[in-house]
Amino acid sequence: MDIKSRSVPYNLQVRWLLLERMPFTESELKQLHADEKGFEGECYFDQLIAQSPASSYLHLKDLILKWNNSTFQVDSCLLSPHQAYLFEVKNYEGEYYIEGKRRFSVTGKEIKNPLQALQRSEDLFRQLLQHLGLYLPVISKVIFVNGEFTLFNANKHLSIILPTQINSFVKKLGSAVYDETFIEKARQLARLHDENSFYLKMHIPDYSYDTLKKGISCGQCRSLSVDVEGRYLICKRCGFKENFEKGILRMAESFKLLFPDRPLSVSNLLDWCQFNNDKRQRIHRILRKHYKMTQRSVASYYV
Ligand SMILES: [Zn+2]
Repeated sequence: MDIKSRSVPYNLQVRWLLLERMPFTESELKQLHADEKGFEGECYFDQLIAQSPASSYLHLKDLILKWNNSTFQVDSCLLSPHQAYLFEVKNYEGEYYIEGKRRFSVTGKEIKNPLQALQRSEDLFRQLLQHLGLYLPVISKVIFVNGEFTLFNANKHLSIILPTQINSFVKKLGSAVYDETFIEKARQLARLHDENSFYLKMHIPDYSYDTLKKGISCGQCRSLSVDVEGRYLICKRCGFKENFEKGILRMAESFKLLFPDRPLSVSNLLDWCQFNNDKRQRIHRILRKHYKMTQRSVASYYV
């Protein structure tokens, strides 16, 4: 049973919107692809749980929690009145090595050891549960979901689940039974999720309104080569055809997401879409239909 669901991370949504509007460096692109892949891995693991008896556990996904002035992230957490499971999901691909207890490397280059981060999260999470009156044993695992992942020198006592072990591991979780009081405790935990954490903005390159390219982006390939043809927007790159109103709403939402401090006014949206004044009435009608108008000094804006 889902207590907290997973949605597309804020920092991915923002970067997808920025991609066609500003240049990304090679390392920013690499990071974006790694984060996209990580998100795909998390969704894949959610699916495995949802299709197994373990779906009866209380499932909390994508939590950012704080305890003792320390912030930690939880990819996936399953709760029953007898057990808490904490999962760090990794969608790594290729050959990795573990050397000794601490070193975790890929083709000679050392990377952040996921086991260390997991241990830290487990300690903080246990304390947080106790604070909520939940004295549960916590089992934490790093789950490697990608079938193309190989780990050399892995010791079977390490808290890791390899791709070939996932199905039997999920099966072994079995199912969970609880009452309303326990569900309320889990909801209490979900409410501690920090929606303003710096984690959510991580890896977003610096951007400003003035330096971004303006124009309507294609709803399919995201290019800015979109023409207005009557009641439709047509992409010159991929041919995607979208209803004008739907596309304008998409532009309004992208503007709000990228510039939460700028008012969504007709003039601002005209500029964002690179429209002339002749589209003013059409834009005005769409905003009036879908948003609530607020008057501020002489200009109207929409929320
Ligand atoms: Zn397109």
